[in-house]
Amino acid sequence: QPIIELRNIRKVYRQGEFETVVLQGINITINPGEYVCIMGPSGCGKSTLLNVLGCLDQPSSGQYLLGGEDVAILNDDDLSKARCRNLGFIFQSYNLIQQLTVVENIEVPLYYKGVQEQESRAIAEKLAGQVGLAHRLHHKPNELSGGQQQRVAIARALANDPLMILADEATGNLDSKSGKEILDIFDDLNCAGKTMVFVTHDERMVQRCTRVIRLKDGLVEKDEPGAAAARLI
Ligand code: ADP
Ligand code: ADP
Repeated sequence: QPIIELRNIRKVYRQGEFETVVLQGINITINPGEYVCIMGPSGCGKSTLLNVLGCLDQPSSGQYLLGGEDVAILNDDDLSKARCRNLGFIFQSYNLIQQLTVVENIEVPLYYKGVQEQESRAIAEKLAGQVGLAHRLHHKPNELSGGQQQRVAIARALANDPLMILADEATGNLDSKSGKEILDIFDDLNCAGKTMVFVTHDERMVQRCTRVIRLKDGLVEKDEPGAAAARLI
């Protein structure tokens, strides 16, 4: 069963008498294990599409099935459960809580899920180890490099063990060496079966993903295998 099915998704912004059609009818199916890069020029609708995929924004029309469930008919409670099960988020500017330590930041989604303290700490420490931060558990974000902060954000996105990771320009703020280390972590996650959907300008990602979707003016212009497509077979 696909993780995501978008059927004729449209998004229109209205401001007074003006209308901006940002997504003009997007059809995309994403299956488990895919590593999808969404690319395209500035203003073509990438962030809007990612927000729809993350259920952060509602489409104006069309259908969105997440794990087979029609997102539009879920109540708030079921929607947040579906998001929790299915989706982890990574942002360009990391979005860590500055007052919390590395391990505490990773625990945030577990706290909201109601996981008890000891278990939550154990999961967070294990994840910190997986992203190479076992020696930084009690540091605060401002004591870390950008690459390290993004690794905290990756561990946090993995905390609920979601089926899929969504990211908006995850390597956009990083120098090339830290960016490469982050890309290596994404490769490992995808090889371990995690589904990834990333908005990016980073051409290095095309060399590593299984599928590249190029948007133009709110439509899918190209939908092609990436260099790592063989990984899916
Ligand atoms: P991208 O991520 O590809 O740069 P966006 O999805 O951010 O593109 O934006 C696509 C278009 O939608 C842009 O022309 C932008 O100005 C417009 N847009 C985005 N958000 C809003 C909004 N809240 N109200 C009106 N227009 C918006
Ligand atoms: P890595 O490659 O391990 O992600 P860097 O080589 O960028 O880390 O940083 C080396 C060390 O310098 C790290 O231990 C980090 O904690 C520290 N560091 C890097 N940037 C900053 C910063 N802006 N403020 C405080 N410490 C920093």
